Amino acid sequence: MTTASMTKDLSTGASDKVDVRALESQHVLQIYRRFPVVFERGEGVRLFDDRGQSYLDFVSGIGVAALGHGHAGLARAIADQASTLIQTSNLYFHPLQGELASRLSALTGLERAFFCNSGTEAVEACLKFARRYWHAQGQTSRTKIVAFTHAFHGRTMGSLSVTWDDHYRTPFAPLVPNVVFAETSDPSAVARIVDDSTAAVIVEPIQGEGGVRPVSPELVAAITAACARTGALLIADEVQSGTGRTGTFLYSGTVGLTPDLVALGKALGGGVPIGAAMLSGKVASHAAPGDHGSTYGGNLLACRAALVVLDELEQGLQESVSKMGAYLQSRLQALAAARPEAIAAVRGAGLMAGLDLGRDAAPVVNAALERRLLVNRTATTVIRLLPPYIVTAADIDEAMGILEEILN
Ligand code: PLP
Repeated sequence: MTTASMTKDLSTGASDKVDVRALESQHVLQIYRRFPVVFERGEGVRLFDDRGQSYLDFVSGIGVAALGHGHAGLARAIADQASTLIQTSNLYFHPLQGELASRLSALTGLERAFFCNSGTEAVEACLKFARRYWHAQGQTSRTKIVAFTHAFHGRTMGSLSVTWDDHYRTPFAPLVPNVVFAETSDPSAVARIVDDSTAAVIVEPIQGEGGVRPVSPELVAAITAACARTGALLIADEVQSGTGRTGTFLYSGTVGLTPDLVALGKALGGGVPIGAAMLSGKVASHAAPGDHGSTYGGNLLACRAALVVLDELEQGLQESVSKMGAYLQSRLQALAAARPEAIAAVRGAGLMAGLDLGRDAAPVVNAALERRLLVNRTATTVIRLLPPYIVTAADIDEAMGILEEILN
């Protein structure tokens, strides 16, 4: 793998090889540990590096490129929208935001949408509107947020405050006060921690960064009971598990959670940045003009891309995710059954899967990269698979073959 890449001098039209890594190392803030590969192009479930080598992509930009890479319909829609109108701000109406909101409302059962540009902003919005709900009713001290151990909700100050890992939190303290973490593995703790001062409980139906851990039925029951008893709002962070990835639009419904607010992001724009906070009518009725906002939020380009993703889901892709998700999970279970000494657990749902090796997963991720399969490591011991929704059984067989070879 090389790090040199072709760029075009726009003034002369000449192409020069530049050392991408050297340039980045001088001028890009050094907060990412990148793998030594430069991707220049994508097609379906494949990415191509600067030497033209093809990789099977089971990361999909961390759960984003739902339609795969270079999707003709998405590309056409984006190009058409770009040449028509990209951005007007939220000072004015445009034709696409209401349409997207009504489609998301039908898919989530939540009445209203607030649009933003990322997952962390969707979580921020949920936290703010939960606080707003109580404030509007004069309950200004009802500010406690209950989150869970191993939770990841994003990197901005509010989302970071409900993210569990000290590694992410400590350098940025003090964070938003009055956040309490309940132990994920101890559902009985929820009843003790959620009380009349709790504004909201926030939960990932499947913890993604925390190691692909679906919420247990016992925890679902405890959360539901605690919210019913105290009136605390429930926020489901479906940034990673939502937008159809597990086979249904939201995973909350599959596990029996009935959230008042849902955070969406990642796959929603198929690669064009967009996030959405979905609010129940009850919560939305306490939000007023000026409470929150975003310059780009819900602009025409992002809405148009999201509408293409929803169209595709509706026109057969959701069914395919269901089928391919079940196939992926069954292949992983078979792999684990054949290699119990190498694989401690298989977790997840649909096309959100985790292979827990019970030891550092980095060597396997690196070996997969050498064999041109992209997977990623999370929570140290877990290999996470988030393929594009267009993945086929043949792609899954190919990925399983590579993982099997490495584990052997
Ligand atoms: N919430 C969950 C569950 C996530 O997995 C992530 C990102 O991984 C986020 C929020 C933050 O999303 P973003 O990186 O788009 O801000």
